[in-house]
Amino acid sequence: MSGIETIVVDGLALAKEIRAELAVAVAAHVASGRRPPKLAVVLVGEDPASASYIKGKRRACQSVGMESVECNLPASASQAEILGSVESLNADPGVDGILVQLPLPDGIDANLVTGAVRPDKDVDGLSPENAGRLLLGRPCLTACTPLGILEILDRHEIPLEGAEAVVLGRSNIVGKPVSLLLQQRNASVTMCHSRTRDLAAHCREADVLVAAVGVPRLVKADWVKPGAAVIDVGVSVVDGVLTGDVDTESLRGIARIVTPHRRGVGPMTITMLLRNTLQAYEAHLAE
Ligand code: NAP
Repeated sequence: MSGIETIVVDGLALAKEIRAELAVAVAAHVASGRRPPKLAVVLVGEDPASASYIKGKRRACQSVGMESVECNLPASASQAEILGSVESLNADPGVDGILVQLPLPDGIDANLVTGAVRPDKDVDGLSPENAGRLLLGRPCLTACTPLGILEILDRHEIPLEGAEAVVLGRSNIVGKPVSLLLQQRNASVTMCHSRTRDLAAHCREADVLVAAVGVPRLVKADWVKPGAAVIDVGVSVVDGVLTGDVDTESLRGIARIVTPHRRGVGPMTITMLLRNTLQAYEAHLAE
């Protein structure tokens, strides 16, 4: 133990702070006589976890004065029917953001469906156009979890310029976009994955360590450099208990900040969805 006073990030409090800022921006638009921003969510089937996420998104929209609409399709819906729903939301001028709730039922091409969302309404940042724009450093809608991670680092004043950042995981939704965002902020980024030879050695170099793997408690206390900022994105269920990629408690006295697996990155992800919806709305107003 190095005697560092570790901050366990309160993602819920941060999310509330940002939602209050978003609510002020939305109220200002409405006070000027404009309609509120609107998010549309496409849900296919009746997966209980997806239904619960959608409920959370509806409540989040309400909390900042945004409208939300749900497009529910049966699990038996064909790919053409799902694409048809996306197309009608694309064409609806009253809809600013469209989110397709994943996973989609077996047999449906998720890439095709998420890729069908108009890039200016793609608040999940998953379309090839937005992913490409992020890669090229152009303005875009960016995936929500990576945005939330950057917001956590910034609001805790973690220096990124010149920092060694290590990202565990290379998914399109977390690992790749967060690596690009960190690189844009002038961190030196190492991306690790399931074929990385010595994960621990890479982690020990990290000033900023982002774990987005989904392997419970993969990151051990002796993998973490004293003073590092550790962001645990992973969510796994072990014996019915929600568990992260990092053993948060073991990092007390070692890490400068660490996110807990509950009330850490999760509330920030949904808040960034709201921020993206506001960004899409303001871009539509300017058209
Ligand atoms: P994913 O698509 O399954 O990707 C997992 C990544 O981890 C892959 O790149 C994989 O490597 C790598 N990996 C797997 N086992 C590994 C190991 N033993 N050592 C090193 N790397 C390993 O997952 P994801 O969608 O990015 O999500 C990652 C985790 O974050 C999941 O637990 C998910 O539930 C959670 N999550 C949380 C939030 C939130 O808001 N809190 C949002 C999104 C995701 P390969 O590429 O080589 O296969």
